[in-house]
Amino acid sequence: MPWFSKKRPSPSATSPVAVVASSAAPRRDEGRAIALSDPALEARIHEIGTEFLDLARGGKAGVLSTAFWSDKLMDWAMKDEAFKVQLFRFVDAFPMLRTPEQIHDHLVDYLSQPGVTPPPGMDLAIKAGGIAKSMFAKTMAGQITGMAEKFIAGTDAKDALPVLEKLWKKGLAFSVDLLGEACVSEAEAEAYRAKYLDLIENLPVAVDGWAANERLERDHLGVVPRTNVSIKISSLHAQTDPIDNVGSIDGLVAALRPLLERARDKGVLVNFDMEQFALKDLTLELFMRCCEEVDFTAGLAMQAYLRSGDDDARRIIEWSQRTGRQVTVRLVKGAYWDYETIHAEEMGWPVPVWSRKCDSDACFERMAAAFIRSTPRTTEEGGVKLALGSHNARSIGAATAELEKQGLPRSAMELQMLYGMAPELKQAASDMGFRVREYVPVGEMIPGMAYLVRRLLENTSNESWLKAGFMDNADAGTLLASPHRTFDRDPGVERIEAAPERHALSDADPDVGDGRPFFTEPMRDFSRREVRESYARAIEHASVPSVANDGTVEDADRALATAHAAFPACRDTPIRTRAAVLVKAAAIMRRRRDELAGIIIKESGKPWREADGDVCEAIDFCEFYAREAVALFEPQRLGRFVGEIDETIHEPRGVAVVISPWNFPLAICTGMTVASLVCGNTCVVKPAEQTPGIAKVMHDILIEAGCPREACVFLPGPGETVGARLVRDPRTALIAFTGSKAVGLDILQAAGVTPEDQHHVKKVVCEMGGKNAVIIDASADLDEAVLGVRHSAFGFSGQKCSACSRAIVVETAYDTFLERIVESTRTLVVGDPRQPGTDVGPVIDHDAQRKIREYIEIGRSEGRVEIELPVPDGLEASVGLPYVGPAVVSGIEPHHRLAHEEIFGPVLAVIKVKDFDEALQVANSTRYKLTGGVFSRKPSHLERAKREFRVGNLYLNRGITGALVGRQPFGGFGLSGVGTKAGGRGYLMHFVEPRAITENAMRRGFAPGLE
Ligand SMILES: Cc1cc2nc3c(=O)[nH]c(=O)nc-3n(C[C@H](O)[C@H](O)[C@H](O)COP(=O)(O)OP(=O)(O)OC[C@H]3O[C@@H](n4cnc5c(N)ncnc54)[C@H](O)[C@@H]3O)c2cc1C
Repeated sequence: MPWFSKKRPSPSATSPVAVVASSAAPRRDEGRAIALSDPALEARIHEIGTEFLDLARGGKAGVLSTAFWSDKLMDWAMKDEAFKVQLFRFVDAFPMLRTPEQIHDHLVDYLSQPGVTPPPGMDLAIKAGGIAKSMFAKTMAGQITGMAEKFIAGTDAKDALPVLEKLWKKGLAFSVDLLGEACVSEAEAEAYRAKYLDLIENLPVAVDGWAANERLERDHLGVVPRTNVSIKISSLHAQTDPIDNVGSIDGLVAALRPLLERARDKGVLVNFDMEQFALKDLTLELFMRCCEEVDFTAGLAMQAYLRSGDDDARRIIEWSQRTGRQVTVRLVKGAYWDYETIHAEEMGWPVPVWSRKCDSDACFERMAAAFIRSTPRTTEEGGVKLALGSHNARSIGAATAELEKQGLPRSAMELQMLYGMAPELKQAASDMGFRVREYVPVGEMIPGMAYLVRRLLENTSNESWLKAGFMDNADAGTLLASPHRTFDRDPGVERIEAAPERHALSDADPDVGDGRPFFTEPMRDFSRREVRESYARAIEHASVPSVANDGTVEDADRALATAHAAFPACRDTPIRTRAAVLVKAAAIMRRRRDELAGIIIKESGKPWREADGDVCEAIDFCEFYAREAVALFEPQRLGRFVGEIDETIHEPRGVAVVISPWNFPLAICTGMTVASLVCGNTCVVKPAEQTPGIAKVMHDILIEAGCPREACVFLPGPGETVGARLVRDPRTALIAFTGSKAVGLDILQAAGVTPEDQHHVKKVVCEMGGKNAVIIDASADLDEAVLGVRHSAFGFSGQKCSACSRAIVVETAYDTFLERIVESTRTLVVGDPRQPGTDVGPVIDHDAQRKIREYIEIGRSEGRVEIELPVPDGLEASVGLPYVGPAVVSGIEPHHRLAHEEIFGPVLAVIKVKDFDEALQVANSTRYKLTGGVFSRKPSHLERAKREFRVGNLYLNRGITGALVGRQPFGGFGLSGVGTKAGGRGYLMHFVEPRAITENAMRRGFAPGLE
């Protein structure tokens, strides 16, 4: 709940000491106020805060205090959460919309969503047609552009210069930020760097003539640069990825060096902004290294909403003092709170941000105090100069009181606030003698939208101090109350801990595993140093067992005989005993997790993240099917008739033959094998010839976990002989296959032949290929679409049945998408999969290489090969596997071979279509129906896609690979498979025979239980 509440004045409303004195039992979510170690300091905080507030509230109404919030749109947004969500989503999509019709259509779509009530007047405009329609679109466009202009100072630095000069004249300094966040290609990064270089070169010249201003240009030790520039590292080097910490930092240092050297020469302060938590450690390390290598005036933003805030502050203070470097830290609470909270839960990772606003506020005060105490007193010593990035009078008051306590003048600390927000506060701070700097974003609408939406969210959030102070007019006591509290519980931690119960991805059984519902195994968080280091060590030491694919048909015979003989005992083993084997296997895999990933990397050439995902999925299959099977094998009573007892039960089918592929060499092999076993079948496992090593390790783990050896026979051998024999044998009851369409169809045909001596019809669980499409709609977020398509098309060299091989692009987005996907592909690193920075590793064998290359040639004749990434010399020899560089082919038409035939390699066909109707029609035109995706910000198009884009797994506004067990049950239809969903709740049904039993419980007209 929000900590600020209009209805409940804080106990500290009149006197800070009242916080300590209050003995009333706190509500659980309010916590207990921490006894003040320094009541005088708290009293001073209130004095300063009150002065600040009084000055600000007495000031003239400014953009945000009245005009912004009283703006009709914002006013309505604040009253109606559903309207706010849809309005902000529309604002986000707006820059991509090209015509008044598109604007009107999208707006109508957003505002007609269930539960949304448009403001009075707007509802009529929405229904309007003809000329009124385009008038309305124009009005809305004007409103949004106006909103953007409140927060963004101009389209480029030149455009913004008059704004900066006006600020300076008003007594405010600036920091210019060129809008644009994570870039998708090195070409884009280069363009950003060029713009920054231009800024660093030319801004000092432009501002040179401005009148001197002592307060803005000097701190307690000397000169403060007039030109202050803020940079976001993710936009400056496209290969920035925390998984490759060393490579990313090297790349960034190289990219930044010319900028920093120029900044040093021109006397410009360069501030490194802080972005998402995943980049935090990397940013800190990069910052320190840049400071050590180039003697520029350096600034760094640090976030107090992080639980690591105190440690981060200590780290920078300790480093600055040890190295004698003076740096500025802009302390902020943080701009990505919602993202961090949502993302952590999706990944199953600890949530990195505080979950209560007052915890962020308290951490902010602790960090501010630590920085102030480390403020250098002379030009010779190292330390941190604090720049306080906040609009919150309590936070500012606390830092100012600490500054006084340390005997430092106000010039030793700077206040920084955002352009377009709270002019009264800036004026008040300035009047109180602070150096105030505005953070001034400059740029175009499209890259600016993420920033604008963040500001809109911040200003309309119930947690916002500005809103509480200036819109809700909370009283001073509430606004200035101490945030320091202790709590008995932490909702953020509890939320993650309770995720299995909340999501209920499976039933829970007290005797299975930890007794809780299934939850997906969290992937490794490679932004953490210790995780990267132990993974790298495990890869180095992993050794692939040498397994010869020398099984013969005679071996197949013997394997089937063994499994057949073992079946009755397995069938009659209690279900919880069988489930326990899976849970134990999962535990062994978890213990050996990185080693297993290392084996996969070395045997199949999978890059780091993909190999980790493979192991997680194998663990998930074990844990998920163990729970599902227990529920499945519980006899189910049907109805409650007194004289008739109706039940259904399930029993295993017999001998299952598992034929697994090489592309998920552990996950899919494990999934099919354990699904068979947990249902009481016995199994003969024939792994892909390319990856028998990891399959053998899986088999060993199952035996170690307690699976009887004769219940699961491991039989590596050639598909044409051993596989063919296994599927045709009458003792085989079930075939679980994942692989190519050709082999899958052959198995289906062979299994349909039922000789006289075979007493059952074989069941085939069959997953085959795909020719998967992603539709890029007119309103798509191209930053996300380009990265989503690139990852889906080229992850593991496109060797996934779920991979994207067709991008179907609506014509208004086509040229931009094509240019960006080509440049983005150029940025990929083709390399050794054992190295963390490798995006694209080898393909599985020479046959695959030859076939993929043939398709690239076909692409050359059917369309235009826009890019085919070269493979570095010597790479094939050093890795020992063949390579094909990712290729993008444009100009492909629906009838071309590249639009229909499965390639199973890193080749993306780009197809232009007129509109969304045609996009759906082309997407549905292949015989495969496995995965598909749509990037669109038009709600009705997403709804249509759900109904009309007929594939087994449809993904909206994200990549189309990486299905998670229990969350995205996986499998297609058409020629992609027989519709079974691996990792889904119904999957095990394919491995059992259902039976119904009816007992007449009536004896001579009497049945027990009649009341
Ligand atoms: C000059 C300047 C530069 C900035 N640069 C950066 C930057 O580089 N990186 C960056 O991330 N941000 C940056 N910001 C944005 C900044 O993080 C937000 O504007 C700031 O958090 C708002 O804080 P406040 O003290 O003004 O307002 P307040 O209303 O006191 O605080 C709002 C903040 O509290 C936090 N919060 C909200 N709800 C909760 C909750 N339930 N639990 C815990 N915490 C919560 C969030 O951080 C939210 O932004 C910058 C801001 C300024 C002024």
